[in-house]
Order: sequence, then C-alpha cells, then structure tokens
Amino acid sequence: MGLFTTPIKTLDDLFTHMLQDIYYAEQQIAKALPKMIDKAGAPALKQAFEKHLHETEAQVTRLEAVFGSLGKPVKGVTCAAIDGIISETKEIMGDVGDPEVMDAALIAGAQAVEHYEITRYGTLAAFAKQLGHAEAAGLLEKTLTEESATDAALTKLAGAGVNRKAAA
Ligand code: FE
Ligand code: FE
Ligand code: FE
Repeated sequence: MGLFTTPIKTLDDLFTHMLQDIYYAEQQIAKALPKMIDKAGAPALKQAFEKHLHETEAQVTRLEAVFGSLGKPVKGVTCAAIDGIISETKEIMGDVGDPEVMDAALIAGAQAVEHYEITRYGTLAAFAKQLGHAEAAGLLEKTLTEESATDAALTKLAGAGVNRKAAA
C-alpha cells in the first residue's frame, strides 16, 4: 500500500479504486490522442483517432455519471499501466522516421491502450453487477462496447493496408 493511498478492504473499495484508476487513464488518453492524430498519415487512421478522441471525452463525462450514480466523489488515482503504455508509445513514435511505419506503430500503441481499457471496463462492469449497481454497470458496458469497436476498427485498418504499406 502506498503512503497516500486508501486501503482496499472490500470488493466495493476495489471497485471504487479501479473506477478512479480508469478515470485517470481516460484523461491521459484524451491528452495523448491529439499527438497521435497529428502523427497519423493515412486519412482513415487520422479519422479513427479523431472519432475516438470525441468518444474518450464523452467517456470521461460518463465516468462522472458513474461516480454520481454511486454517490461517490469524482476522483482519479494514478494508473501506472496507462502511463507506461503511453510513454512507451511516445518513445516509439520518437524513434520512427518512415511515415508508413509510423502509422503501424500508432495502431500498435493505440491497440495496447484499447486492450487495457477493455480488460478494465470488463472487470468494472462485472463488479458493478455483482455489487448491485445496475445503472453503473450499464454505463460501463456502454464504454466497453466503444472500446471494443475501436479495437476492431484499428485491426481492420491494419489489415486494410497500413501494415502492407509499412512493409513496402
Ligand atoms: Fe476510453
Ligand atoms: Fe490502471
Ligand atoms: Fe479507448
């Protein structure tokens, strides 16, 4: 347990902690996406990132509604995992010169982010259901669906030419 962290005793404590974690994570993702939009070369990839930036901003608001539905204060806690994924992606972006390899690198980084979100929202929705928070569960499942759709869209873009161009 960290010095300034709240002890986690119950499943409800764990649920709250993980909500705060994903709230922080979504905010970091919203900050990172503009740079990725800027670096994306393929117009379809740029569009996909722009669409997901809007979704991400709405997901932050949706999480505030989740906190509200639980009667809990809106709060974030540092997510070491998203900080790591984003800093690794930025490091790779800094090392890539070729624009087509850049697109492949951006997709790889973005999919790592989406997969983290998918695992977290899946767990959060399951915890919410178990704890009897039906409204929160519905909101969390809505975001889970968006993250899964984003992941699928990125897989499609990679398969539809980004990887082939990067290999050429
Ligand atoms: Fe998200
Ligand atoms: Fe985390
Ligand atoms: Fe996402």
